[in-house]
Amino acid sequence: MKIDLHTHSADSDGTESPADVARAVHAAGLDVFALTDHDTTSGWRAAGDAAVSLGVAFVPGMEISCTTEDGISVHLLSYLHDPDEPALRAEIEASRCSRLTRAERMVELLSEDYPIDWDVVRDHVRGDATVGRPHIADALVSAGIVGDRTEAFTSVLHSRSRYYVPHYAPDPVLAVRLVRAAGGVPVFAHPLAAARGRVVGPEVFEAMIDAGLAGLEVAHRDNPDDARARLVRMASEHDLLVTGSSDYHGTGKPNRLGENLTSVQSLVRIEEQATSSTTVRHP
Ligand code: AMP
Ligand code: FE
Ligand code: FE
Ligand code: ZN
Repeated sequence: MKIDLHTHSADSDGTESPADVARAVHAAGLDVFALTDHDTTSGWRAAGDAAVSLGVAFVPGMEISCTTEDGISVHLLSYLHDPDEPALRAEIEASRCSRLTRAERMVELLSEDYPIDWDVVRDHVRGDATVGRPHIADALVSAGIVGDRTEAFTSVLHSRSRYYVPHYAPDPVLAVRLVRAAGGVPVFAHPLAAARGRVVGPEVFEAMIDAGLAGLEVAHRDNPDDARARLVRMASEHDLLVTGSSDYHGTGKPNRLGENLTSVQSLVRIEEQATSSTTVRHP
């Protein structure tokens, strides 16, 4: 059984439509996948319909951007929550709104030094997709300023770049509580991905666990090997489930579908803990 619980479509910063992600999952020979677009659930229906028609099981998910009081970025995966639960919805809306102003501000700063403007960035955002730095990266690629997204992220879009602007995002402890209150199952995404920027210390892990964290995404290409061993120890100490995933973004990142997998036991634990009416869709 091949299970990949972390993928993105063009409803956030992936490059394929939600249905095309399901088709790619089928072509890659996987049995189960979760669509976890950043701060949106708009792709659930289309991805689920396509998956089921191809004989693939679909797990509705979302990746929530969070920021600690120290300004450290944390990504929280939520599985099987109620997308209409008002408190979670309000936080996600606030974050999405702030992402837009922040992207406009970053483009304004970049335009002082590079031939780029908001219209070009906007052309790279599909419909009501969650706007992020990857869309600015695509505009920089179109303008010939960088070769690809990765180059953009290691230079002008890096969190330490002079063009970087933060956006509002909920504290991870609040996000864990909101996901649980919406009947969902919160899993800490790539918890020790040091190459992306600063990672949180033990006190934040403890607080998230106390708030109801269900699991840790251990097998992810951005978690270094020694970090994975620490995460596995932490998971067994606190009886957390562990997952492994690709974090597929289509052609937007080198990550390949199924490059890391989640066990059936972990998926069963996720399903057992979910309490909303959102369920896994089976073919
Ligand atoms: P943002 O949420 O707007 O701050 O942008 C962060 C997003 O950019 C993350 O969700 C990543 O998926 C994506 N990202 C980070 N690094 C890279 C990279 N090197 N290449 C492509 N996408 C990246
Ligand atoms: Fe992303
Ligand atoms: Fe992430
Ligand atoms: Zn992701």
